[in-house]
Amino acid sequence: MTERWCIKISGRVQGVGFRPGVVRLARQLQLTGNVCNDLQGVTIELQGEPQPLAVFIDRLCGVDKPPLAEIQSCQATPTSLISGESQFLICHSQDYGVLQSEVAVDTAVCPDCLVEMADPMNFRYQYPFINCTNCGPRYSIVKTIPYDRPNTTMARFSMCRRCAGQYGDVGDRRFHAQPVACPTCGPQVWLTDARGERLANEGGCFTQAATLLKEGKIVAIKGIGGFHLAVNALDETAVQRLRQRKHRDHKPFALMTDSLAKMKRFVEVDAQAEALLQSPESPIVLLPRRRACPLAEAVAGDMNTLGFMLCYAPLHVLLFAEGLEVLVMTSGNMSDEPLICDNELALDKLSGIVDAFFMHDRDIHRQVDDSIVHFVNDVPILLRRSRGYMPSPVRLAQSTAKMVLATGADLKNTFCLAKDDQLICSEHIGDLADAEVYRHYLRSIDHLCKLFEVDPVVIVADDHPGYLSTQYGQGHRAETFLTVQHHWAHIAAVLAEHQVDGAVIGLVADGTGYGLDGTIWGGECLIASLEEFERFGHLRPFTLAGGDRASKEAIRPLLGLLSQVYGANLNNLSDKSIVFRIEPDEATVEMICQQLTSGLNCVATSSVGRVFDAVAALLGIGKQNYFDAQLPMTLESRVVTGCHEILSYDMQEAIDGTVQLDLRPLIHDLVTKIQKKQNVRQLPAQFHNTLVKAFLQWALLARERTGLRTVALSGGVMCNRYFAGRLQQALLEAEFTVLMHQRLPANDGCISVGQAAIACRSLG
Ligand code: ZN
Ligand code: ZN
Ligand code: FE
Repeated sequence: MTERWCIKISGRVQGVGFRPGVVRLARQLQLTGNVCNDLQGVTIELQGEPQPLAVFIDRLCGVDKPPLAEIQSCQATPTSLISGESQFLICHSQDYGVLQSEVAVDTAVCPDCLVEMADPMNFRYQYPFINCTNCGPRYSIVKTIPYDRPNTTMARFSMCRRCAGQYGDVGDRRFHAQPVACPTCGPQVWLTDARGERLANEGGCFTQAATLLKEGKIVAIKGIGGFHLAVNALDETAVQRLRQRKHRDHKPFALMTDSLAKMKRFVEVDAQAEALLQSPESPIVLLPRRRACPLAEAVAGDMNTLGFMLCYAPLHVLLFAEGLEVLVMTSGNMSDEPLICDNELALDKLSGIVDAFFMHDRDIHRQVDDSIVHFVNDVPILLRRSRGYMPSPVRLAQSTAKMVLATGADLKNTFCLAKDDQLICSEHIGDLADAEVYRHYLRSIDHLCKLFEVDPVVIVADDHPGYLSTQYGQGHRAETFLTVQHHWAHIAAVLAEHQVDGAVIGLVADGTGYGLDGTIWGGECLIASLEEFERFGHLRPFTLAGGDRASKEAIRPLLGLLSQVYGANLNNLSDKSIVFRIEPDEATVEMICQQLTSGLNCVATSSVGRVFDAVAALLGIGKQNYFDAQLPMTLESRVVTGCHEILSYDMQEAIDGTVQLDLRPLIHDLVTKIQKKQNVRQLPAQFHNTLVKAFLQWALLARERTGLRTVALSGGVMCNRYFAGRLQQALLEAEFTVLMHQRLPANDGCISVGQAAIACRSLG
C-alpha cells in the first residue's frame, strides 16, 4: 500500500551535498516526491511502499549520509498521497519562516578534487579554485542565508556551460555545489610586488611565488579565510625578517607543508594526529617537536611543540608542487590586529611587511583564522575555534525563550548568540583593547546577527565593569541586561558543551577574572549549575602590584608570593640573589616591595596564571610574557616525563567557610631547592604535580560536602596539556565523571557561551 511521508531534517544539512544525496537515494529506491532546503533545514516529501520508505530513512541517516552532513533531528509524519507523481525532484530554496538552518563550514580540498586537479585531461587541471559538494569554501563566502550562490561572493561569476551542466546534474559530484567554478568562468590568481604591480598571472604565479619564497622573500598569500604571511621556515634570516617587520618578536609561528612524510621530519605525528590533519576541518595541530628538527630557530624558539597544518586550499597544493618544503604560514596582520582578507586592505596594510602578494578575486566575506587543536590524553581539544568549525552551534537542551547576545570577555574574545536551541559562538575575535579588533568585534556582531536573523532582547556580559565588552553590552538597547561572574561563565560553558543539567564541582585554573568581591579571581573551586554558583574554595589570595604590568612582568606576582612567605621587604629571605637574578635593579625590587606594603595600585588575587608566571621566573625560564601565557607555556615545555613527586602545599578551611589552597609551602620548597641546587630539572614537573594534587583534593572535599560526583574543568591554565591531562587522570582514578572542553577553548574564548547558557536558563 502506497504511503507518503513528510520528513523534516535539521542540523548541518545545507551546502554539504545533502539534497543530491537524497535524490540519488530516492531514485535508487524508486520513490517519488521532492526535497527542498528551508529555513529549518531540509524537508523531504517521499512517496512509495512502506518498506523502501523505512530503508530510505535508515540509509540517509546511516551509510548514505553525505560525508559533511550532521543530522540533528529527523522526523517523519504521514501526509496525503499525490496521485500521478512519477519522479523525485529538487525544489528551489524557500526563503521564508524562521532562519534556523545551518551555514556549513569551510572545508579542505577533498581527495576527488585533488585527483582531478592533477589530471591534464580534466578541464579543471591545476585550477586553484576547484571544489565540489564535499569540499571548498562556505562560511567565509556566505553573505546571507539560505546558502545559495546568489547569496555568496561567487554571485558575480556566472557559470559557464560545463560548470552549469555539473551544477544541474543530480548524478554529479558538483550538483548544487554553490562555489563551483573552472578556469573559464571562475576566479583567477595573480602575483604582484609589494606595491601591487603585477608580476605574473595564473599558472606563472605559482612558479614565481615559489621562487621568491625559496629566495627567502616574504609573500602574502590569500587563501580561504584571509591572507597568510608566508616565508621559508628553513631560512633563519628570512624568518627573522618576518618577525621584525610584523612586530612579532616571540610568539611561535604556525607551519604548513604538503605531506605527512615531510611533516614527520620536524614533529612526531601519530595516527590520531594524522587523521585530524587530513580531516575536512584541517586545523593547525600542536605536535611534539623532533629532537633533530632542522627548522629555523626563529620559528618557535625552544618550544617543544610546533603548530603544523597540511595544505587545505587547492592553491596551497599547487604552490607546494613547485618544490617547496615547509613554510611559516602566519596570519596576515600587524601583531594582534584582525586578519586581513580584502585585497585593497592587504596592499595598504601589508606592503611594508611583504615582498609580494599572491592575490585572487574570490572575495572573502568573513575573515576566518586557522583553528588550533591539541591533544589531551588522546582527545582533540580546540584552542582556537575558527575555520572548519565555524559556525557549527552548540545545542541547548531546551530552546531559549528569548534571543540572547553574550558579549564575552575582553581577551581572546568571542561573542555568542542564542536562538531557539542553538548557541552560535563567533570565531576567535581577539583582544578588544586593540582599536582595530574592537571595530572588527562590532562588525562581526552585526554580521552574525544578520546572518542568523538574531535581534537580541537580552544582553549578557562579564561582571567586570572595566571590560569593553561589558560596556558595549550596557550601551546596547535591549530589554534586559545582565552580567555573569567570569569563572561561573567558564564552568557554564563546559556544562553547555556537554548539555549537562544540574550542579557540578567546577575546577577553574585561570589567569584573570573579576570576582564578586571586586578582587581578581583565578584559582577557584566552584559548586555551579547554570542557575547558581557558590565559591567552595579558592587560592589563598596574594597581592599583585602594578595593574596591567602585573600580567606581563613575572617579578610582580613573584614578589607578591615571596612576601607572603618571607615577610614585607623579604626581610626573612637571607639570600636575595634569587630575586636579583630576575630583576637586577635593586631600586625596582624595592619599589615593588614598598607598593606591596602600602597597597598602592595593588590588587588581591587568587590567579593561577600569575603563579605560573612567578614560578617560571623563579626557575630561570624567563621574566616577561611577551605574548599571552608565554612563561606558563615555556614552564610546561620544561616538564620532564615520568616524574611523580610533589612539593608541599596546604589546604584549609578559612574563616569565611571557603577551602583555601595555600601555596606558601610550595614557594618555600621551590626557593630552598633552587638555592641548594637540588634536582632543579625536576622542579617544573613537581610544581605541576603539586597543583594537580591540590585540585584533586578540592574536588574530594567538595564531593564529601555536597555528594556531587561530576567535575567540570575550565580556565586558561587548562590549555596546559600536562596539567589538564594529569588532573583528568587523577579525577578519573578517584571515580569522578570529568567534563572537559572539547569544541570550545578552555581559555576566555569559551566565556561567551557560558554567559549565553546562563542567560537562557535564567529566562526559563
Ligand atoms: Zn571536492
Ligand atoms: Zn566553468
Ligand atoms: Fe578566564
